[in-house]
Amino acid sequence: MDIKTIDSLNFAGHKALIRVDFNVPLDKQYNVTDDSRIRAAVPTIQKILKDGGAVILMSHLGRPLKKLKEDGTVDYAKHTLKNVVARTSELLGIEVKFAGDCIGEEAFALSAALKPGEVILLENLRFYNEEEKGDAGFAEKLSKHGDVYVNDAFGTAHRAHASTTIVANYYPADKKMFGYLMAAEIKNADKVILSAEKPFTAILGGAKVSDKMLIIENLIPKADNIIIGGGMAYTFFKAQGGKIGSSLVEDDRLETAKEVLAKAAAKGCRILLPVDSIVADKFANDADSKEADNDNIPDGWMGLDIGEKAIEEFTEVIKNSKTILWNGPMGVFEMEKFQKGTKAVAEAVAAATQDGAFSLVGGGDSVAAVNQFGLADKVSYVSTGGGALLEYFEGKELPGIKAIRG
Ligand code: AMP
Repeated sequence: MDIKTIDSLNFAGHKALIRVDFNVPLDKQYNVTDDSRIRAAVPTIQKILKDGGAVILMSHLGRPLKKLKEDGTVDYAKHTLKNVVARTSELLGIEVKFAGDCIGEEAFALSAALKPGEVILLENLRFYNEEEKGDAGFAEKLSKHGDVYVNDAFGTAHRAHASTTIVANYYPADKKMFGYLMAAEIKNADKVILSAEKPFTAILGGAKVSDKMLIIENLIPKADNIIIGGGMAYTFFKAQGGKIGSSLVEDDRLETAKEVLAKAAAKGCRILLPVDSIVADKFANDADSKEADNDNIPDGWMGLDIGEKAIEEFTEVIKNSKTILWNGPMGVFEMEKFQKGTKAVAEAVAAATQDGAFSLVGGGDSVAAVNQFGLADKVSYVSTGGGALLEYFEGKELPGIKAIRG
């Protein structure tokens, strides 16, 4: 589908209001501990500045009105976007000005006086309830900062918030567009969901099957193979009458799990569950552990990683795939003892990519895993969107994308 990006405009003389995702992790002194999200927005900002445009950045940082201090007041020190100004200036190589309120007089004075080549960052949008409510009046005020609206915040594209969606209503069609990050996210996700070269294998893992059911259902008609690992696999084993010991299970999803397996069989989509597990006697790195078949886990033991037979089978399927989508770890990879399965899958995805497959890794913990194993640059694309990416693969239309794409 057509994606209108910032390449469609020469920004000379324009003021671009850019929704970025600067919701970065901070340490106890409020220093940025991972600046990937800021880095990801740099190409968009630089193109606009280079054209001779000016930039007004807006973002959220945490949930200040929901995560109050113990005394019930708002934690400004933790949630002010001032915390990211220095790092943003450093990455852009120019001084970024800061407006202490996103719709206050000072902010409008700063954006009005902004010259070509200059950048201001507005204060955290979520200091206003209106942001998450998608309030039209608030969105209209925000729109006064710039004559062009650019959305480069894929991570919040699944939210119909004022700055991610509603604000677009206040711009004509030729003055609202996607930044480079957002465009890349959409393009790569579409490559998997709309035009996957076959065989297409989706690898889904993680803890909760309930979070992933809609994706599985949406992928069944598209994928040749769906590999299911991690804690969510045990719900499928129990649904089929297997003994899963004290492994993670969602008893209220047993019926859905059965239905999903039947649907896949009817559509000719192969669902691969791990035949064996590394089981442990407690949820800890120093637990006693051993191998067990997944339909016969002894009482008192829980599966915390996929086993050797599963690794072998999954690796084979992954290596023979031409398109790979990976979301969610195969086990509790945060503990060294239970990271082997996730690492093996990461390595198989990297090897398939090396052999010409297209691989997209996205959604939280699998991104952490490829980073941890040093394989992020060995896969085709690592998405920045957690929930947004998942919803895209559930087949939902993301409001932040629709607002621009129509
Ligand atoms: P999710 O956010 O649903 O993708 O889940 C990611 C989390 O699932 C990670 O923190 C993993 O440690 C956890 N996880 C993966 N496999 C298992 C398992 N077999 N038992 C318990 N937790 C698991």
